[in-house]
Amino acid sequence: MIVVMKSDATAEQVEHMTAHIASLGLTPQVIRGAHQTVIAAIGEERAGMTEALEPGEGVEKVLPIMAPYKRASSELKSERTVVKTRSLEVGGTRIAVIAGPCSVESEAQIVGIARKLKELGATGLRGGAFKPRTSPYSFQGHKEEGLKMLAAARAETGLAIVTEVMAPEHVPMVAEYADVLQIGARNMQNYQLLQAVGDSGKPALLKRGMSATIDEFLLAAEYILDRGNPNVMLCERGIRTYEDHTRFTLPLATVPYLHEKSHLPVVVDPSHGTGKARLVPPMCKASIAAGADALIIEVHDDPEHAVSDGSQTITPAVFGQVMAQCRRIAEAVDRSL
Ligand code: PEP
Ligand code: MN
Repeated sequence: MIVVMKSDATAEQVEHMTAHIASLGLTPQVIRGAHQTVIAAIGEERAGMTEALEPGEGVEKVLPIMAPYKRASSELKSERTVVKTRSLEVGGTRIAVIAGPCSVESEAQIVGIARKLKELGATGLRGGAFKPRTSPYSFQGHKEEGLKMLAAARAETGLAIVTEVMAPEHVPMVAEYADVLQIGARNMQNYQLLQAVGDSGKPALLKRGMSATIDEFLLAAEYILDRGNPNVMLCERGIRTYEDHTRFTLPLATVPYLHEKSHLPVVVDPSHGTGKARLVPPMCKASIAAGADALIIEVHDDPEHAVSDGSQTITPAVFGQVMAQCRRIAEAVDRSL
C-alpha cells in the first residue's frame, strides 16, 4: 500500500502516519520527493486498512497494491480454474455453449429445444424457472415445476442444467435439480444469496450487475469462493450506459481484463447484452475472438411467442449458423467449440 501525503503535509503528520502504519503491522518506508512525501506500507494488505489510513491528517490518498479480492485474483492463483459438471466444461481449450429459452414454458418446450440444441453442439441447457422480472405483472416462472421440466430435459439429453436462483431460501431446492446455479444481474450484490450458493457447493454462474464495476463483480465472486466453493464462472451480460440503441451495452474488453485479473472462467451473454436477436450472432463471434470461455445464448423455437425476452432470442436455425461461424473463429484463436 502507498500512502501519498499532501504537498503541504507537516513533518508531524508524516511521523504520525508512519507510526499509524506500524501499528497496523506494516513496515513504513518514507520516500521524500522534491514536492511530496509518500510512505510505502510494506506487508500483507488486509481488508479495512485503506479505510484506516485514508482519514489521517495530511493524507492525500491511499493506493492499494494488491487486489481487494484475494481468492478470485490471479495474484494468488495463476493456474486457470476449469468448472466441470456433466456435459459442461468451462475454462478449458474447448469453448462451452449454454443455450436455451429465457424461461422454461412447458416440458414439451424445454425437452424439444434441448434435443435440438444438443444436436447443434450446445454443451449446457439454460432456462429460467424463477424469473426476476422488472414488472411484478410479468410471468414469474414455473418455479419448482419448471425445475422438474429442466430435469426431464437433462434426463433426455444429458445436457447440464443452468438455472437461476433468486433467494437464499430457495438454494437447496434449486440445487436439487440444477447443475449450475445462476445468480442474476439484479442479485449480484445479494450477499446472503452469494453465501448460500457458496455453501451449496454447486458450480455458480455469476452475472455482472448492470451497474457494477469490475472490482465489485470480483468481490461478489469472492463471497462465493470464500465459502469454500471454487467453481465460479463470471458472466458479462452488459451494463447500463447512456446509450439506448441496445438494451444494455456489452463491453467485451471485460473478457481479456478479467482474464488478466482473475483465474476464473469468463462467460459472455450476448442476448441480454444487446437485447436484439440480430445483434446476437456478431456478438457471439466477437466474444470468442475476445477470449470468452463460454457463451450463454437465448434460443426459442418461436421467439415471437416466447413468454419472456423474445426480441433478443434466436431460433435453432440461427443458432446452428452461429455455431458453424463460431467454430471458425474459435480455431483462429487456438480454441475449439
Ligand atoms: C436471464 O438469464 O434470463 C436473466 C434474467 O439474466 P440477467 O440476470 O443477466 O438479466
Ligand atoms: Mn432472459
